Amino acid sequence: MSEEQLHRIAENDVFKLTPEGLQALREEVLKRELPLWFQIDDLIEDRNHFIQLVHRTAENLRDLPCPICGSEEYKLNYVTITTIIGKVFTTKITNQPILGCYNCVYNIKQEAEDTNSIYGWWSIEGLIETPKALKANDNAMKLMAIDEPTEELLNYAYILIMREREEEQRLDALTITIEKELQ
Ligand SMILES: [Zn+2]
Repeated sequence: MSEEQLHRIAENDVFKLTPEGLQALREEVLKRELPLWFQIDDLIEDRNHFIQLVHRTAENLRDLPCPICGSEEYKLNYVTITTIIGKVFTTKITNQPILGCYNCVYNIKQEAEDTNSIYGWWSIEGLIETPKALKANDNAMKLMAIDEPTEELLNYAYILIMREREEEQRLDALTITIEKELQ
């Protein structure tokens, strides 16, 4: 791996690395004595803080009332339910991401299952994709039954945090522009 690539990973992709990947990156940077070496531990610490923030945000999202039915009975989670409608030569595949409570996701999943069982099979692609969708939807329900944030929820939390940061940066830039204009 080139020095440039290592730099790019350390600066942009450090959040995506597994602890093992991170360790490998750290060792590589230190071994090669790259200019990055003096900040690699800070980067790792930032990353760990950021991951904690993502988990905290995901947990906060789970405690909200369900955006679909308003119930507070269940903790929320985030999954994707797939619906397939085959029509001879065309196949309509809909992946519906849902943030919701167990009951709401269950109802949507049941509806999708009814549609998939009846209409999924009527195209060649549908013949291949329908069993996959039935399995994926069952899997989504299994994830809903587990009391921890799904990968999709963590991803959603990550996107929310990044959006908020971008918004803050945008506002900061705007403030600077306005201040300059007022001077
Ligand atoms: Zn609900």
